[in-house]
Amino acid sequence: MSTSYQVLIVGGGTAGIMAASRLQKLDSSLSIAIIEPADTHYYQPAWTLVGAGAYNYKKTAKPMAEIMPNGVSWVKDFAVSFDPENNSVSTKESGNISYDYLIVAPGLVMEPSMIKGLPEALDKGIVCSNYTDPEHTWKLLQDFKGGNAIFTQPATPIKCGGAPQKIAYLAADYIRKQGLAEKSNVMFATPGTVIFGVPVIRETLMKVIGKYNIKFHPYNTPVEVDSKKKIVYFIDKTPEDHACFVQKEGSSFGTNNVFGANKTEDGRIAVPFDFLHIAPPQAAPKFIRESTLANEGGWLSVDKHTLQHTKYANVFGLGDVAGLPTAKTGAAIRKQVPVVLDNILRLIKSNTTGTKSYNGYSSCPLVTGYGKMVLAEFDYNNNFTPDPKLKQMLVFDSSKEHWRLWMLKKFGLPYLYWNKMLKGEDV
Ligand SMILES: Cc1cc2nc3c(=O)[nH]c(=O)nc-3n(C[C@H](O)[C@H](O)[C@H](O)COP(=O)(O)OP(=O)(O)OC[C@H]3O[C@@H](n4cnc5c(N)ncnc54)[C@H](O)[C@@H]3O)c2cc1C
Repeated sequence: MSTSYQVLIVGGGTAGIMAASRLQKLDSSLSIAIIEPADTHYYQPAWTLVGAGAYNYKKTAKPMAEIMPNGVSWVKDFAVSFDPENNSVSTKESGNISYDYLIVAPGLVMEPSMIKGLPEALDKGIVCSNYTDPEHTWKLLQDFKGGNAIFTQPATPIKCGGAPQKIAYLAADYIRKQGLAEKSNVMFATPGTVIFGVPVIRETLMKVIGKYNIKFHPYNTPVEVDSKKKIVYFIDKTPEDHACFVQKEGSSFGTNNVFGANKTEDGRIAVPFDFLHIAPPQAAPKFIRESTLANEGGWLSVDKHTLQHTKYANVFGLGDVAGLPTAKTGAAIRKQVPVVLDNILRLIKSNTTGTKSYNGYSSCPLVTGYGKMVLAEFDYNNNFTPDPKLKQMLVFDSSKEHWRLWMLKKFGLPYLYWNKMLKGEDV
């Protein structure tokens, strides 16, 4: 196998495969390689549905060998470190590989240890997470017989920022359908200040929250899980003029209390749980954090419009690893890939970058119950930017719940992912 490529890609996930197959189509004469250690590629967006028993987990996986684009070399190994001054990436077992252009796309990693007790709670199956094992979420949901069902979001950036609340809506719907709503308390807690950044989507979601009677707790960061006592602890930064878990003395606002929540001596909020879904804290992979390619937060340091590295002109970033002020989603990657490839192809041909600019587009298919979905599409400025093609599907306002959007999520998007996006075709 060669040890030198014109375009080298680190990571064969959504971003790496999409970029390689499209680049191969645009110029089949290029020598392209992907460094990727995994045997299996997952369509992660469907894990939300798996967690609610609405999708078969097996259908979210395909052998990596099946989706590797023809004509692209697969280096089945881990990238370990970068030497951007010498245009080289070192690997665990395959030595150094050099490149003319590098696309860094190894995704992100779960960091459950940032919440005390979480690794143990996940290992023992006391808590669940669609981010790590959606089938277990579904199992615990079926076992739930009433009480506190708690859904959380961490303080770090995460992939698909909407996923923690999607499963809350599906679970609330499931609980209602099981006739358990009366004896259950569904709660969604997030360190954020609002349920969603895009105003028109927020409006719909607040109605959904009201409909299910979900206790919504912004300003709350999960910091510890006690698996034995089944208690989750939050640091609560709720301002005085908001409803909080535990009634503040002299507050004229009602409590939004859940069964048995109380304030500990050290000021944290302790909430007993009967069901707990956690989105673990997340970070860039360690070999990125420790490299000269990272920004202060540990993410790949790239220009937010060109996706070119801020120091090395022949290095680009794609996907979850990129330090971009927008939501980390596959949908975002769909719009990032053409920009990066345009830049690389122009650099190869004329030594100038392209004219395309990434505007921060991302999208979050917010399933709000079985058979219902809202499609949040937005840019860096949180403008609502619905795809005009939705009208062809007879969806004229995707900021409102629609059954056709659910069909898109369950059937349309997985089809487009495997058959078009990963094959480098326009969708
Ligand atoms: C529960 C859940 C729900 C989601 N819902 C949606 C949704 O509805 N819509 C949406 O658009 N997105 C959604 N996403 C997010 C979406 O799946 C990710 O944003 C997307 O997969 C990121 O692509 P990526 O290529 O950056 O990373 P990944 O797809 O995670 O791929 C990274 C690849 O890099 C490889 N890698 C890691 N380390 C190394 C290394 N050292 N060397 C070489 N290779 C390495 C990995 O093996 C992996 O194959 C969801 C994700 C989850 C978990």
